[in-house]
Amino acid sequence: MIVHYGELALKGRNRPWFVSSLVRSIRILLGGLGVREVRHVMGRIEIRLGPESDWEEVRTRLSRLPGIGNFSHAVPVPADLEAIASYVERMVAGRTAKSFRILARRADKRFPFESPDIEREVGRRVQAVTGWPVNLSKPETVIRIEVLTRDAYCYFDKEPGAGGLPVGTSGRVMCLLSGGIDSPVAAWRLIRRGCRAHFVHFHSYPILTRTSQDKAREIVRRLTRHQLKSRLLLVPFGAVQQRVVVTVPPPLRVVIYRRLMVRIAERLARDAGIPALVTGDVVGQVASQTIDNLTVVESAATLPILRPLIGLDKEEITTEARRLETYDVSIIPDEDCCTLFTPRFPATRTTRAAAEAAERNLDVAGLVDAAIAGVAIEDFGFPVLRLAVPQGSISAGDQK
Ligand code: ATP
Ligand code: MG
Repeated sequence: MIVHYGELALKGRNRPWFVSSLVRSIRILLGGLGVREVRHVMGRIEIRLGPESDWEEVRTRLSRLPGIGNFSHAVPVPADLEAIASYVERMVAGRTAKSFRILARRADKRFPFESPDIEREVGRRVQAVTGWPVNLSKPETVIRIEVLTRDAYCYFDKEPGAGGLPVGTSGRVMCLLSGGIDSPVAAWRLIRRGCRAHFVHFHSYPILTRTSQDKAREIVRRLTRHQLKSRLLLVPFGAVQQRVVVTVPPPLRVVIYRRLMVRIAERLARDAGIPALVTGDVVGQVASQTIDNLTVVESAATLPILRPLIGLDKEEITTEARRLETYDVSIIPDEDCCTLFTPRFPATRTTRAAAEAAERNLDVAGLVDAAIAGVAIEDFGFPVLRLAVPQGSISAGDQK
């Protein structure tokens, strides 16, 4: 297989670092599929499959990995014009096409024929055996040839990759993951840009069922297919909410919950050396997401809060959640940890002063400490869990 990286090609002097990171990710990603070799050759990545490699599975896994522009199932032939032409004759045998063109690229300039010469010669041979007309501008079928040093690769189709940057090359972020539709998509947006996402989920067990935790786990498991390893922090939030309910006037509660979540998430992020938080907020979607309320929530934070979905419509987010395969988990009914304690008419225009006044009746530091003391850590890996983790913090389960 030949993998072309997309945006990576632009990365100048740092390119070798990005590429070796992508190569390492591909090796882990395709673990267990009988892959012989993954290596960087002349501006692309070559993956040698074994006879037992399951192409469909290879394709599915590769299509999820950030940093890949496109990839193709290609057959290597010796880098020799006659060998290339006679292989392509065999490729087209038995196929039909209304028109075609050859698209050749000579990566190794020592090859004695220039790309247009290769295209002309191979095109002539294809036409001779098939009779297909050539159409350079709008061909129905494109036959691609890439000439490297030892081998040339011939193939028809390119599969689109996920785009973006290789996992981990943009550092780490702490994603607030609710179990709803939006926050997994927000996490994906950052994962795709090369961030490794850590996840924090606030639950109200044992006041409510374990459903929200199970949903968070399943969403993290699915997102781990893109970033290969993940950590999920499960924070008990029910006790915090019970305190808020007895001290904070109903219209302010949602904003106060969010301010407490942000403080707790931020402490967890700092402890792990993570410099930013991510949420699935969208302007105007619900009462807690008016510009006023987002601002009041943000003022409780000292780390930046990234909101990659801020200007999207629900429909756009839903489409992306479906593509990401998190949607069907997100819509499993469950009592959101906030629904139980949420007033029917939350304020849409709170102020920082009002929030701070309400918090004077709360032991904010004590609540944050207690929640953090109750955190459970779970690690996930794809295709398998590989990392050594601190003792007692792992609940591996079925990670496949
Ligand atoms: P989502 O679909 O992501 O649940 P939402 O439209 O329901 O979002 P809110 O419930 O207001 O919106 O939540 C806004 C953001 O706050 C979420 O996207 C998420 O990042 C964070 N958040 C909300 N509830 C939780 C929770 N229980 N645990 C972790 N993060 C949460
Ligand atoms: Mg929600």
